[in-house]
Amino acid sequence: MIELKTPNELDAMRRIGRIVAGLLAHLAGLVRPGLKTKALDEAAAAYLARAGARPAFLGYRGFPATICVSVNEEVVHGIPGPRTIRDGDLVSLDVGGILDGWYGDAATTVPVGSPSPQALRLTRTARRALEAGIARAVVGNRVSDISHAVQKVVEGEGFHVVREFVGHGIGHALHEDPPIPNFGPPHIGPRLAAGMCLAIEPMVTVGRSEVEILRDGWTAVTRDRSLAAHFEHTVAVTERGPEVLTATGHDAEGRPD
Ligand code: MG
Repeated sequence: MIELKTPNELDAMRRIGRIVAGLLAHLAGLVRPGLKTKALDEAAAAYLARAGARPAFLGYRGFPATICVSVNEEVVHGIPGPRTIRDGDLVSLDVGGILDGWYGDAATTVPVGSPSPQALRLTRTARRALEAGIARAVVGNRVSDISHAVQKVVEGEGFHVVREFVGHGIGHALHEDPPIPNFGPPHIGPRLAAGMCLAIEPMVTVGRSEVEILRDGWTAVTRDRSLAAHFEHTVAVTERGPEVLTATGHDAEGRPD
């Protein structure tokens, strides 16, 4: 059952979306060599508190932190802690917030200092895959049109999409219907309608797409320990086309997003 948000509910989704976008941009600006990932979590908690919002991930199925920070071979759900960010790292930040009972969810991958050409290409491909997916979030399309667009961009660059984790509907819960895989044939699944809110989130790997979960019970790493990147926006399907609710106006490299 896919919920359609009313105009008032969409306004509420825009409000939390703006906060989540601001948080993500703030954190991306803090990422630098020598910083411990725990410091990003503390900054995120303070930011959300100042904005009057609550963290969406803290306590979610027992997740122990405000945000997810996943470095290099970590794909998603990394727990911020004592790990020190180094020059050349790929730091994926995944943030979620709640305001007035409504959720926003967004992620970006920040290349630190002087990343390898491959790391940069991976990051740019994952971002481009997200953009391609968003462009298909159009009334009358089907869910798998998003999935297929993401996969095509990623595999066109010789990279791979993670299959164990998928995007999702979002609203007054973090994860709602429909699931949105990052792979699959086009033109199948539910038809997109105005008022749907979707978290589209390609997870892209250099090597094989299989992941495994570390002993902390959360951190998903590539099984072959190859690099991964993750981008996500919360998007509303509207009669006027896709509306990115978590747009910051610029990305971690200073490009418009
Ligand atoms: Mg998500």
